[in-house]
Amino acid sequence: MIFKLIILGLVLYGVYILFIRDGNLLEQMKEKNRTAGGGKGGKKQEDVETVVECHKCGVYVSVDEAILKDGHYYCSKKCAEVK
Ligand SMILES: [Zn+2]
Repeated sequence: MIFKLIILGLVLYGVYILFIRDGNLLEQMKEKNRTAGGGKGGKKQEDVETVVECHKCGVYVSVDEAILKDGHYYCSKKCAEVK
């Protein structure tokens, strides 16, 4: 009798753990969708993507892709005139 109760308790505990994990997963997906929808396409999982203007042609590029030269950002090596 007690043994059965322990088994039942373990089963309930297992279900509880699975439920909590699924809950967290759902929360993560919700957050992902929220950030993707708020941004532009959701390219990366970044909170804020800083965009800079190319000093030469005026194209907007993210800081990660931009080339910094003499204190100005450029969209490409061609604009930055570097080899
Ligand atoms: Zn440019």
